[in-house]
Amino acid sequence: MDELIMRFMGTGAGEGVPTPFCRCRVCEHARKAGGKEIRLRSSFRVSKEMQIDFGADIFAACIRTGLDMYDLKYLLITHTHDDHFGPFNLYLKSLISRGNGEKVHVYLNEDAYGLVEKYDSLGFDGSSSFYSDCMKKDFEFHQLHFWKEEKIGDFLVTPIKGEHRGHLEKNSANYLVVLPDGKRMLYALDTGFYGVETLSFLKNVRLDYFIVEGTFGSADRGEMPYSHLDLNSAYNLCRRLFEQNTVTPDTRVYLTHINQEQDYTHEEMTAVCAERKTPYQITVAYDGLQIKDYVK
Ligand SMILES: [Zn+2]
Ligand SMILES: [Zn+2]
Repeated sequence: MDELIMRFMGTGAGEGVPTPFCRCRVCEHARKAGGKEIRLRSSFRVSKEMQIDFGADIFAACIRTGLDMYDLKYLLITHTHDDHFGPFNLYLKSLISRGNGEKVHVYLNEDAYGLVEKYDSLGFDGSSSFYSDCMKKDFEFHQLHFWKEEKIGDFLVTPIKGEHRGHLEKNSANYLVVLPDGKRMLYALDTGFYGVETLSFLKNVRLDYFIVEGTFGSADRGEMPYSHLDLNSAYNLCRRLFEQNTVTPDTRVYLTHINQEQDYTHEEMTAVCAERKTPYQITVAYDGLQIKDYVK
């Protein structure tokens, strides 16, 4: 039986906080303060069986949250950047001797699916194919398509277009997920300000949870930036979605995927958001945060 978890495994952007080559104020503060100021690269555990993204820090994120991946069956990948998908991390499952004997189904969208072939061609230990020779018993890759809903486990999943380019794909996938309890979640990393196509798809799709990047926090990237949002443009996107009934007063908004190039610590960003009044609740996520409705 699957069970909803709804927990942030990591809330950092590609650099993480503190990032190893940096001694900025935010990184230095994180090194001293620890706790919520530390941000591993972003991923989200939807349920025992479903996870979104599997990036560079998944090993550390499991240790930090106390969760394991034993029951994982479905892995949705937003795009091919290594903070979101480190395919070599999958090999961790193929290395163990006492697994559950079940395959993990990995979902890549449109052109991102081309990563499987590239990954395979790296070879391993004298073999010319890595995935086909070493990992096929543990994993099956699937290709998803924008706007096309698929039933995956107990969930209905629709990839929608983010304005963010990956290694192989022109648009990242953001995932609209209908949970088994009927609630709707949109996982919007990496996003940029949505284009017309995405906005019109989302018209009147009422969200219970909107998890959105606040990557560049205090920086000013303009009203509707491409590729990544800052705090202002994340608020703008929420307002735009509120005007079309996607975000409602009942929607819980969570900001995640936050970097150290901007100048807010977690504590400061939380204080800034508390002062900005919105008709819906906006929370700055931190590593390990579990959505309240699912805390046991
Ligand atoms: Zn990212
Ligand atoms: Zn990215």
